[in-house]
Amino acid sequence: MKVTFWGTRGSIPAPGKETIIYGGNTTCLEFILQGGSRVILDAGSGIRALGEKLITESEDVDVYLLITHIHWDHVMGFPFFPPIYKPSTKIRVDGYHTCMKGISHAFDTKMGDGFFPVKFNDLKADIEYLDRLGNGSFEIDGTLIETIPLHHPQGGFGYRFREGDKTLVFITDNELTEKAWSGRTPEDYVAFCKDADILIHDAQYTPLEIDERRGWGHSDYEATLDLAHRAEVKQLFLFHHDPARTDAEVAAIRMQCEELTAGKNSSLVVEAAKEADELVL
Ligand SMILES: [Zn+2]
Ligand SMILES: [Zn+2]
Repeated sequence: MKVTFWGTRGSIPAPGKETIIYGGNTTCLEFILQGGSRVILDAGSGIRALGEKLITESEDVDVYLLITHIHWDHVMGFPFFPPIYKPSTKIRVDGYHTCMKGISHAFDTKMGDGFFPVKFNDLKADIEYLDRLGNGSFEIDGTLIETIPLHHPQGGFGYRFREGDKTLVFITDNELTEKAWSGRTPEDYVAFCKDADILIHDAQYTPLEIDERRGWGHSDYEATLDLAHRAEVKQLFLFHHDPARTDAEVAAIRMQCEELTAGKNSSLVVEAAKEADELVL
């Protein structure tokens, strides 16, 4: 599979001269699976530029859209995804059980409530809800997609993609804590991430910040690094960068993680997710 980061930022877009390297757009990833199918993960503000690319590449855009959860930063880009305004577009939606609500409520209701000028029902694209992932795993072109519940306000899903002997895990908006709800303890996430080639995980906060932000549903980078070590993953991407975090600060966090890893004599590779970066697995 080939994966492209279109948005790596958490909470709200953060454009500006301090966020040029790691990017200012909120969560959106593009997966091209081994069979050629295209899967988009979340519709944060990064999905706008992805949509611009897709409509210039092809008349007929055909994608799966998987949603982790429907907090604003993960769905806000959908009204600005250009393929939704073309009748030749096919979008198969799946993910957390509220996903259709998340991508439709930003549009105008019949009451003219003023959030957005277009009504969801007037979109030209063929948008179909699959309702598969809420009932178990889902296979697309031989790629197995499985979920794990998030420890996050209002819930959500993390995802594991398995293609042959390769595994990629994507878990954002997840608070790693020993005081977690049942089924969402650090041990549960270790089991889900075990031996992954790539783990992309929320690392929004620093260890100094986390105590003031318990219950907000995000992790500090030490907890995320600990998960990667315990699950013996090969490569970790820190994700959902705090909107106030500058490029220099994100780079310093990545270096700190590298130093902590060297101290453990581990071969784990630590990166910080960068908008526009591509991974091939
Ligand atoms: Zn978020
Ligand atoms: Zn969230």
